[in-house]
Amino acid sequence: MSSRKPKAQSTVLSDNDDDIHCNASNEMKNNNNYKQEKTTNNNSSNNIVYTPKIKWLDLSAQIFIHTGCLYGLYLLLTEAKLLTGLWVFIMIQLSGFGITAGAHRLWSHRAYKAKWPLRLLLIFLFTIAGQRHVYAWALDHRVHHKYSETDADPHNAKRGFFFAHVGWLFITPHPDAVAKREAVDMSDLIADPIVMWQKKYYIPLFALLCIGLPVIVPWYFWNESLWTSFWVNFNFRFCVTLNIAFLVNSVAHMWGHRPYDKSISPAENNFVSVLALGEAAHNYHHVFPWDYKTSELGSYTFNLTTGFIDAFARLGWAYDCKYASQQMIRRRANRTGDGSHTDPNVWGYGDEDLTSDDLKDIDTMGYHSLSS
Ligand SMILES: [Zn+2]
Ligand SMILES: [Zn+2]
Repeated sequence: MSSRKPKAQSTVLSDNDDDIHCNASNEMKNNNNYKQEKTTNNNSSNNIVYTPKIKWLDLSAQIFIHTGCLYGLYLLLTEAKLLTGLWVFIMIQLSGFGITAGAHRLWSHRAYKAKWPLRLLLIFLFTIAGQRHVYAWALDHRVHHKYSETDADPHNAKRGFFFAHVGWLFITPHPDAVAKREAVDMSDLIADPIVMWQKKYYIPLFALLCIGLPVIVPWYFWNESLWTSFWVNFNFRFCVTLNIAFLVNSVAHMWGHRPYDKSISPAENNFVSVLALGEAAHNYHHVFPWDYKTSELGSYTFNLTTGFIDAFARLGWAYDCKYASQQMIRRRANRTGDGSHTDPNVWGYGDEDLTSDDLKDIDTMGYHSLSS
């Protein structure tokens, strides 16, 4: 079992008061501003002129992935066998845990610790998802949290929905993002031989696990055609997983309540959370990024990843899971939340989640209310 002792750690938060702008005209305006203005952000390097440019090779890759995804969907609906549909669903779910429990909660945030068999399983699942190697993913994600919604944020949502969703992957990065990528501490991942092994052999591992395994299994075991299997089990699957992760960077940085800190853009978005296995209680996550549940309640309905980690904690493969106490959460919500915070449901009298104020009132009423 995990020790579950929350460690006192400080979070790095941005103080953005402005509402974010997400319509197309604002997006264009924002991009024009980037062309014309010298940056004035506190985190920027001094007076850098930044002209975003399209990286054509990366743009072509995205166009291929997304058009191929539509063709894969067509084949899934018209040609593919039922088992292939089931297989693609299972692959999306399982590889998703490699992203959420692995690259995100374990390697980016160190929200819990994992023994090597679990780390090996997570790197296997993460490679199936195909979202670059863990080192690159965690590096960008650490910079995203530390400099959220400033020029240094690789997918700064203040530059609009499209940039935060996918544009950042084919537009040249802001010089601040490049500088902060070089400055962020990655010594823990450098010291993890499993992470560095995946980094070193990423291309053959990608070919084997992101393309080979998902495509060949349906062909070998239930005679799916290789052509259909490629477009469905590689292209369609890869693109769907990619877009679910993109939604956390775009939608969950724009729409939803902000019960824990109303001054930041990340918001609670249950719709994205269900798709992303529990990753879009995003206001909470940016306030307490070291919490292994990435949400206050850790309900398994909206947060399958917490269930996944808890299951491995029972085996002893996951341990030292950190999470914020109810008092810490309440304090923060009262101080900086938007007023939408509600205390969790309780099972009855004596539940540890009953607020101390409620408890005092109940005790004051005592038996008088029953006898009167
Ligand atoms: Zn975020
Ligand atoms: Zn995160």
